[in-house]
Amino acid sequence: MTEKKMAAKAEKLTAVKGMNDILPPDSVRWEWLEQQVRSLMARYAYSNIRTPIVEPTPLFIRGLGEVTDIVEKEMYSFEDRLNGEHLTLRPECTAGVVRAVVEHSMLYDGGKRLYYMGPMFRHERPQRGRYRQFHQIGAEALGFAGAEIDAELILLADALWKTLGLNEVRLELNSLGQPEERKQHRAALIAYFEQHAEQLDEEARRRLHLNPLRILDTKNPAMQALVDAAPKLIDFLGEASLAHFSQVRAMLDANGVAYSINPRLVRGMDYYNLTVFEFITTRLGSQGTICGGGRYDYLIEQIGGKPAPAVGWALGVERVLELLKEQGMENPSPELDAYAIVPEIGNLPMAMACLQTLRAAGVRVQMHAGTGEGMGSMKSQFKRADASGASYALIFGADELAQNLVTVKALRDGSGAQTAYPLANVADWAPHLQSRS
Ligand code: ATP
Ligand code: MG
Repeated sequence: MTEKKMAAKAEKLTAVKGMNDILPPDSVRWEWLEQQVRSLMARYAYSNIRTPIVEPTPLFIRGLGEVTDIVEKEMYSFEDRLNGEHLTLRPECTAGVVRAVVEHSMLYDGGKRLYYMGPMFRHERPQRGRYRQFHQIGAEALGFAGAEIDAELILLADALWKTLGLNEVRLELNSLGQPEERKQHRAALIAYFEQHAEQLDEEARRRLHLNPLRILDTKNPAMQALVDAAPKLIDFLGEASLAHFSQVRAMLDANGVAYSINPRLVRGMDYYNLTVFEFITTRLGSQGTICGGGRYDYLIEQIGGKPAPAVGWALGVERVLELLKEQGMENPSPELDAYAIVPEIGNLPMAMACLQTLRAAGVRVQMHAGTGEGMGSMKSQFKRADASGASYALIFGADELAQNLVTVKALRDGSGAQTAYPLANVADWAPHLQSRS
């Protein structure tokens, strides 16, 4: 090997910029959050769906809209080396869910309520709350047209914040109406922005005739005043759209869910119509949207399915966890019931058999691992047991094993009490170790 090659080999490899390792103990919070979500989804009768991370690029171009931040500049796209197929790491999951629902004719016997969790990929400038690989949890209800499903999904998200102990989130609501109504608004919007063309930034000027609604979604502070005074879509809504909107609001009111109406809320994708909403916090700086969603009644058809209405939302897991941390939530410690102390290598086979039975009975137990040469002193093993946070030490000493016993020592209650239990009927005394289940 040349010197240069050696140097190359020794070079440290790091994670891709904007893509994070999620390590213990943080991963404990992730698992806890996922567990809360699963349990809540079950109570609302939403079933889990898992779609591929890689999808055909045209799915997103067709689904999200060509003139959107995601499609214009944020997608990780590549060509399949073998067949030249255009592929993309999913930037969001709604399009994939719709593709799957259409591909498997899932709506043939009625509407479906689905949820997903997983990594999404967007080539954005990494900063707090904004990453290139990030995680979303989303809920989608497909095949339902009524306002009650819009409301159900919002209630579900609201219940999730309560379950997680998140406060300081507020709900913003808007209606984007129907395509016909949007067309009229679009004309008014173009006329308005043309009148103020000198105030538009470069991106807005480019989008003016392609997709003027997107200008309302601008993150440029210099354009906020202009955008605030722009014609409001809500003033262009017809009777049916207004009725749908007021039904959603009445259901939220009846359930004590507070919201404010934000006529500028348009969301980043083209597929939305009627209800759109975002849950926002002021505690995460400019990355304050923790969850966004809305109705997308035309997407299924656009992706090649039989026309069917749908509505959904997606939350950003990193932002939700960041907000929980901001509120002072501590990492839950990984709970361990017992730590197995094994003085001699020769005692391991019997000890391990006992641990297997304990684990089968639901006890969380960590085995002391040796150095490859020996097990280490009793003192060092007890030190490890203490550091592990376990409630009990199990001591598999030669004396105990000779009598088919194991000594259980309380580590946390101050008593230091020791009890010998028989190895013959482990399952009988296993429950005594489950102190903090
Ligand atoms: P933003 O306006 O902050 O860019 P968005 O409108 O692009 O958000 P959506 O596509 O609606 O976001 O995604 C739903 C949620 O996913 C967001 O509300 C946010 O919590 C989260 N999210 C979106 N992009 C990122 C990212 N790059 N890093 C971390 N979380 C993200
Ligand atoms: Mg974005």
